[in-house]
Formats: sequence, structure tokens, C-alpha cells
Amino acid sequence: MSHVRVRFAPSPTGFFHIGSARTALFNWLYARHTGGKFILRIEDTDKERNSEEFLNIIYSSMKWLGMDWDEGPQVGGDYGPYRQSERGDIYREYLGKLTAAGRTYEKDGAIWFKLIGERTEVYDDFRKKTVEKVANKPVVIDDRIRGRVERTEDEDFVIFRSDGSPVFHFVNVVDDIAMGITHVIRGEDHLSNTSKHVELYQAFGAPVPEFAHIPLILKQEGSGKMSKRDKGALIEEYQNRGYLPEAVVNYIALLGWNPKDDREKMPLADIIALFDWDHINQSNARFDDKKMAHMNMAYLLEQPAAHFIKNARDYFERQRPDAPALAADITFFDEVMLLAQPKIKGVEELPDYTCYFFSEDYPLNEKALEKVMKKGEPLDRLRELVAALPGFDFSTDATVEAGLAALAEKNGRGFGDYQSIARLAVTGTNAGPSITAIFRLLGVDRVRTRCERFLAARSA
Ligand code: GLU
Repeated sequence: MSHVRVRFAPSPTGFFHIGSARTALFNWLYARHTGGKFILRIEDTDKERNSEEFLNIIYSSMKWLGMDWDEGPQVGGDYGPYRQSERGDIYREYLGKLTAAGRTYEKDGAIWFKLIGERTEVYDDFRKKTVEKVANKPVVIDDRIRGRVERTEDEDFVIFRSDGSPVFHFVNVVDDIAMGITHVIRGEDHLSNTSKHVELYQAFGAPVPEFAHIPLILKQEGSGKMSKRDKGALIEEYQNRGYLPEAVVNYIALLGWNPKDDREKMPLADIIALFDWDHINQSNARFDDKKMAHMNMAYLLEQPAAHFIKNARDYFERQRPDAPALAADITFFDEVMLLAQPKIKGVEELPDYTCYFFSEDYPLNEKALEKVMKKGEPLDRLRELVAALPGFDFSTDATVEAGLAALAEKNGRGFGDYQSIARLAVTGTNAGPSITAIFRLLGVDRVRTRCERFLAARSA
């Protein structure tokens, strides 16, 4: 069995965004790749900024993405509790160890961590002592992604505030020691904390874990770092929009990692098999919501019919509970959705894309109207079609197609001459699934009524 133990350690102070998901995913992938353990630890010591709502979003987003944790809240494990707010005793015990080793002191009500080395007092312009500099040797971090990083800690730092609450650096390191974490995989924004952390590991006499600091995610435009406030940043949003979790996971895996060939869409099993440090880029990744939408479309296209239908129905129920589609006959609903499946980029397009199947009250696209009405005498052609409808066989796409073809031939026109005006009249637009399938699904009566209504509105 693998000795690898990695953890994702979110603070529930904000929504679960792309950056959090990527950090969680890289840890999860590494655990699954090595056969190690993936631990979820909640860093909820900041009482003011934590909320149960944010915590629940972390749980539900991770579950939705399929990142199951082997130890942590809800599932337990031998190293619990897994919420820092419940680990006060452990922190006091570890503080005791540092104090016994002579590595702490109290000043201004706070508890400080004491570095080892010659001390020099530094004075400001008014000859007032400001800080004490410690001549310390540099900490060398052999980061799995960044390579060798050197940094010197030359000032003591606070580990317990004057109100008695422990500081992030302290609890983070204590928990990584107590939970036997072997690899710390986290965002590059924590690289600057790592020398403090290594000093603490050494003071505890604990082995220093391997570090892997993942490059930042830049937002779509400009050079800024993606933040929780950016559009398209929240995982929950993609869930609500009916994105497929496997597509989101695939896309997020590529934010900083690549399989070293030109593959993008790839099965999770392959990502797990290939995931390793040497495939993680040193440079920042850029979030691109068009690429993400494209990935989603690729997954949607090949989704088995039953899954796609369920996905579509869930979306309507969640986002458009009043949509007439939900009142329609189930087989009819299913057929319409499957007809749309290869045509849409995301299930969020379905309500608008399919609206004319479920209601007589569908919008007329003005641009499409203008375009179609410009060519020849479209209303004459529509009249010819209406007149011929009683002779049509609506039972299959092929019989509808044969009817249209026969009509075109009889009048010396092309199939397309009828198609564009018929589509406009029965769907209100000039794009969509095949006209023969639309006719068959709507049935002769609805097709005739719509065509007549369209003609009446234009020949007044
Ligand atoms: N709670 C920290 C954060 O959310 C975790 C840092 C770490 O992974 O060590 O950024």
C-alpha cells in the first residue's frame, strides 16, 4: 500500500471556486494515482469569516465533481476530528511541545515562535527599537513544481494571538504533522509561507513533507489572478447551469497540467494514470470559459440518451419549473431533448432551443424573418405546402421528407425553397434540428395551424 497522504484544506470563508476545485482535484488525482489517501480538512479557525453555508457548498461541490475523500468530515478516519475548530486540545498539546523545547515566548499577550540564531536589534529613525532580526540560515525548499526555492526567515512570528486563537501557520503545520501528511499540494500563493512552515516542522522535530506549489489561475482577460468574484468562477454555478461534472473535472485538470500530448478530452482513468509532477506547468494557467463550454459540449454529445434526458429534465425542474415542457407527455419530452442533444452546447440552452415544441406561443426571430422573406415569394411557397399537407404521411422523418421532395418536384422547386419558410413559420427561427423531425414531432395539425397563422398575419 502507498504511504502517500495528501490533503485538501479549504477555509469555508467563501464560495467554492475554480481555484479551490483545481487544488482539491490535483490532490485527489495524486492520491488516486499513487493509491494513497486523500484527506479533507476544514481550516475553520476564523470564526468571523466562516459559515456553515460555505462549508456545505464545499461538501456538495466536491461530491458533485466526484472527488470523494478517504478521511475527513462526514466520513471520519483515524486522525480526526477533521475540522480545526474541534482540534483545540491538539493545538495546546503541540504548543506545549514547542514551549518545552524553548521555542516560544510571550509578548504583548501573544505567543511567539522563536527562531534560532544571533539577534540584532533594529531601530527606526527615532531610535526606537522596531524589530529584532535573527541571523538565520536560509530554508531550502525542493518544490516538486517550482524547483529549488530559498527563503530566510529572520523575524520571530506570532503563533497564538492575544485572544488565544492559533494562527494559520501553526495549525496548518500541526495538522499536517498530526495527520501524517506526506505531500502538501497547494496554490502558489502559499509558497511565501512555506519557509515559516519548514521552521515549525524542524522545531517540532517532524519530517518535512514534500511541497508542490501549483501555479495560479489567471482570469480570462488581463494578467490578474482569478478570484472568487470573477464571472464563471464558482463550481456551484456550473452545477446549476447543467454542466456535466466529468467535463468540468476534465477541463480543470488541464489548468496547469497536461498529458504531454495534444489530448484535451480524456477519460478520468487516463488522467489519473498520467497525473504526475513533471506534467504540471510552471507557468500560470488561464481560465477560458469558452473552452470549458466546448469541453462540456463534447461530453454532452456522447452522453447516453437516458443520462442526457435525465440531465435535461433535472435542469428544467431546477431552473424552469413552470416551463410548458414539464407538462408535456414524457415520451414527447424525451424525443425532443434527444433531437436537440447534438445541436446544443449546454443543457442551459434547451428551454429556448426547444420552446416551440411545447407551446404555440414561441417568439418570432426578426432577423430570420427578414432573411427568409427576402427570397422569392416565400408566402406562395408556404401556401403550396399547406395545400399539399393532407397528402403528407407524418409517420416517420423519411415519409415527411418524401412528401416535401415530391412537392418540390411537382412545382419545379428545390427542397430548400419549402424548408426555410416552413421552418420559420412553425419554429419562429431559421436554425434548429431537421425540419422533417420537427414536422413529425409536431404532427400535421400543429404544422398546418402554425403555417396558416403565419400566412394570416402576413396577408392582412
Ligand atoms: N486553508 C488554506 C487555504 O485555504 C490551506 C493552505 C494549505 O493548503 O496549506 O488556502
